[in-house]
Amino acid sequence: MNALIQPEIAYQAYPGLDAVRDQFPILQPQPRGAGESLVFLDSAASTQQPEAVIAASADYHRFHHANIHRGVYQLSQTATRLYEQARASVADFINAAEPAECLFTRGTTESINLVASTWGRANLKAGDEIILSMLEHHSNIVPWQLLAQATGAIIKVIPINDAGELLLDAYRQLLSSRTRLVAINHVSNALGTINPVQEIIAEAHAAGALALIDGAQWIAHGVTDVRAMNADFYTFSGHKLYGPTGIGVLYGKRWLLDAMPPYQGGGDMIEQVTFAETTYAGLPNKFEAGTPHISGAVGLAAAIEWVQSIGVEQIGAHEQALLHYATERLLQIPGLELKGTAQHKSGVLSFVITDPPVSTLDVGTQLDLRSICVRTGHHCCQPLMAHLGIAGTARASLAVYNNRNDIDRLADALADIVERARRTATAKSDRGARKSDSNRDLPVEMPDRSMESVDVAYPAATADSPEAAADETADLFSLLPDWPMRHEYLIELGDKLPPMPEALKTDANYIRGCQSTVHMAVRRKPGSADIIEFLADSDANIVRGLIGLLQRIFSGQSASAILAFDVDAYFARIGLDRNLSLSRRNGLAAMIQRLRELARQSIG
Ligand code: PLP
Repeated sequence: MNALIQPEIAYQAYPGLDAVRDQFPILQPQPRGAGESLVFLDSAASTQQPEAVIAASADYHRFHHANIHRGVYQLSQTATRLYEQARASVADFINAAEPAECLFTRGTTESINLVASTWGRANLKAGDEIILSMLEHHSNIVPWQLLAQATGAIIKVIPINDAGELLLDAYRQLLSSRTRLVAINHVSNALGTINPVQEIIAEAHAAGALALIDGAQWIAHGVTDVRAMNADFYTFSGHKLYGPTGIGVLYGKRWLLDAMPPYQGGGDMIEQVTFAETTYAGLPNKFEAGTPHISGAVGLAAAIEWVQSIGVEQIGAHEQALLHYATERLLQIPGLELKGTAQHKSGVLSFVITDPPVSTLDVGTQLDLRSICVRTGHHCCQPLMAHLGIAGTARASLAVYNNRNDIDRLADALADIVERARRTATAKSDRGARKSDSNRDLPVEMPDRSMESVDVAYPAATADSPEAAADETADLFSLLPDWPMRHEYLIELGDKLPPMPEALKTDANYIRGCQSTVHMAVRRKPGSADIIEFLADSDANIVRGLIGLLQRIFSGQSASAILAFDVDAYFARIGLDRNLSLSRRNGLAAMIQRLRELARQSIG
C-alpha cells in the first residue's frame, strides 16, 4: 500500500471552512441554470482571492491612489504609507529582521533573476558551482543557466528518489569549496515534495555557500521563518498567497543586499545622479527602480492579514487532511498513477492515466467540461518530467477553500473519464477484431514497411477553397451553441482522422510546442506542383479533433490559397480562441507554420 494512505486519518474539515469558502466570490454556487459551481484545484498556479483582498485593492484605487515616495500632498503620503506598511506586513509574516530586507518584485521569477543578475554577476567566476535540484521550476533553473553562461560557473543538480524526495547524501557529495550557492525550492510545484530546507541551508553554510529558497509553493501552506531557517534569500509570489498577480517578494539578509549592485536603474533607486556618476539609495529602494506595483503591495498585505486571521498552520493542517483523503480516493481509480509520493508532501496531487492511456491534455479538457480546474503539462519542470520519463501530468493542487466535495467531484469525474476511455478502447479493439476476422480467408501479404511503399491516403480537399471549407465548418459550429457541444464535435472529427502510418511518425515530423505528442507529414500532392496535403496524429483526442478541422480547411488546397487564409480570424469566428489554451494554440500555430513553409516553397 502506498505510504501516503493512512486510512485511520478521517477527513476532518477545518471548522470554519464554510465561512472561509463564502469569502471567495468565484467559488459561490452559480445562479440556477448557469451550470455547476467551480471546483478550483489549480491553486499551485494561482490561488483565488477572498473578498477582503479584492476590496483592499479596489479601495486603494478608489480612495488612495497616487505615486509614492514623491508627492508632498496627503494622498501621495497615504499611498506611500500603505506601500511601506505592506512591506512591514511581509517582514512580520516571514519573520525578517527588518522590513528593508523585503524587496517588492513582480514575483518569484523576478526575485530569482534579481539575485542571479546582481549577486551572481558580482560574485561568481568561472569554475564556481551552483547547486540546484531535479525538482526545480524553470524560474529556478534558467536564471542560473544565464548566469553560468555569462560567468563560466557550473550547475550541479541534486538527484531524487522514486518518491520525488531529494537525495541528501548525493547533495552532500555535490557540496565543495567551489560551491557558491544552493538554490532549491521549499516545495516542489510538480510533485508536492516538501524539502528539508533548514538542513539543506545548514549544509550549504557549512560548505561556505549561500542558500536561496524558492518559497513559491510553501508560503501559503505553512509558517515561514526566514531567520529560523537561516535563508540568505527567500522568494515568493503574491498570487499564490491569495493576493494579486504581479507582486512578489525577495527577502535577503541586509549584509548581502547592501553589498549587491542594483538590479535596474531608474527613478526612486538613486541617492544622487550626475552625468558623471550616480550614487544609489539605501535598502529597499536601491532595488525598486521606477514606480512599483503599489496596489499589488496593498493587496498582498490584505492577503497576509487574511491568512493570518485564519492561521497559516490551520490552513496547512486542513490541506494535509484533504490531501490524505484525496490520495485515498485517487488511488482507488484503476489505471491512475500518482507521481510524487514523498513522506512530507504539500497539497499537490500529480497523476497520469496509463491504463487505458488518456493524455493529460484530454484529462484537463474533460475535467474543465465538468467545471473542474486542474493544471496539465510539464508544470515548467521539463527536466523533472524528462527524468520521470513522461511528457507531463495532470495536477490537482489544494488551498484552504477546497473541501471534501471538491475531491469527490474530481475523483468521480476521473473515474468516469477512465471508464469511458476503457469502453472506447474495447469498442475499437472489437472493431479491429471483426475486421481481421472478415479478412481471415484472404491471402496474407507481408507488408513492406519502407516509407515509400506504405499505402498512405492523404485527405483530399473538402471544398473549392479554404474559405469555402471554413464557411461550411463555421455554419456547423454555429449550430453548436456551447463549448461542450463543440468539444464533442471535435472529438468526433478526431475519431474520423485518416490513419497516419507509424513509419511517418519520425523526429522530422514531430511538432514542438504542443502539450501532447503530435506528428505531422506535409507533402506536395504527387504529380502536382502546388497542391498541399497532410496527415497528422496526436495522443490527445482534442488535438486529433483540431487536426481534423485543419485538414478540412487546408489539405488538398493550393499553396497560394493556404497562404492567403487567415487562420486566427477563422478561430475567432468559430469561437475556438476562447476555449483553447495558448500552449495548444502554439502547437496549432506550429502545424500551420509547417503547412505555410511548404506552401511558400511551392510558390517559389
Ligand atoms: N517557483 C515555483 C516552485 C513555482 O511553482 C512557480 C510558479 O508556479 C514559480 C517559481 C514562478 O512563480 P511566478 O510565476 O509567480 O514568478
